[in-house]
Amino acid sequence: MSALAKIGVWECDLATSELTWTDGVYDLFDIPRGTPVSREQTLACYEATSRREMEQLRSRAIETGIGFVLDILIHTTLGNSRWIRLTVDVEQEDGKSVHIFGTKQDISAERAAREKVQSLQTELIHVSRVSAMSAMSSTLAHEVNQPLTAISNYMAAARRIATKTMVPPDLAQCIEGAQEASGRAGAIIRRVREMSAHGRPQKTEFELEQVVKDASDLVLADRPGTTVTYRLAPEALIKADRIQIQHLLINLLQNAVEAAVEKPCQIEISTSQTETHLEICVSDAGPGIPIELLPSVFDTFVTTKAHGLGVGLSICRTIVEAHGGRINAVNLPQHGASLRFTLPLAAG
Ligand code: ADP
Repeated sequence: MSALAKIGVWECDLATSELTWTDGVYDLFDIPRGTPVSREQTLACYEATSRREMEQLRSRAIETGIGFVLDILIHTTLGNSRWIRLTVDVEQEDGKSVHIFGTKQDISAERAAREKVQSLQTELIHVSRVSAMSAMSSTLAHEVNQPLTAISNYMAAARRIATKTMVPPDLAQCIEGAQEASGRAGAIIRRVREMSAHGRPQKTEFELEQVVKDASDLVLADRPGTTVTYRLAPEALIKADRIQIQHLLINLLQNAVEAAVEKPCQIEISTSQTETHLEICVSDAGPGIPIELLPSVFDTFVTTKAHGLGVGLSICRTIVEAHGGRINAVNLPQHGASLRFTLPLAAG
């Protein structure tokens, strides 16, 4: 039963420091059963913090005669790491502690399960924050859309009046510029609404070009210095969820723009075709992805930004893999990062 429960019983004679273990404790420490063991040998396996905490509680237990329970981390000589629940009781004679004894139980599995639950909870909190933000942006887009429409109508009226009356050409130009800008803002808001109102994925066949250009407009609307070069394979028809692909491109472009903090941002979006897939590549001329981040950059909550959520690239990977594609990130030889992903061609 103790083997099944991964539990062992131990005892220490305080006068001689002699240890007595059952087989279960030997197994926890990966020490051959029955070998004589010293306290020093055991303590060498304790992780530093666990050792400090245990020594403090042990001294107090010997002093007061009151036992304790503590979870400790050990690294065995065979290189195994284990979380162990240590229970300690004290036996006294004439008010003096003479023996301490108790159990040691392997709780690594329990601990791993608890950590998994904690990480899922954190993930859930983040996801609900992201979805709250999405709901907020949808409301905001709805609210902003109405005054924008009004501005656009007023500007159209002003333009008509300006053509009929003799207004200075500068003023006519200003009115025209303002009307165009409000039209652009309206288009952006419309796309934001389309995106946040989107529910279940719907795969349709479409050319990527317009989606690429829409995503760039959306991200680069307030980035006048940014240059984007397009090298797109002609007439490549893919089968995918249009809005998800737009979302994916927005995330990649947003990252490229945010990376180029010092210089004006230069981005290149290129596509190339294989027999079955279209490969899309978003490259920038920024500082590149920190080298130590590269292996985990698609994991959730990996971020170097003060206010980053670290979910953007993980969402990108989910979208790409849901479409049967692959995504990877590399740094370019000169400078900058390149994010490449594949999507199935409609014909493929
Ligand atoms: P977030 O943008 O919230 O940090 P992401 O998952 O989108 O989350 O990105 C994770 C991290 O990857 C970023 O914090 C950044 O350090 C790095 N990164 C992503 N794209 C680029 C890029 N184009 N250039 C440099 N670093 C990047």
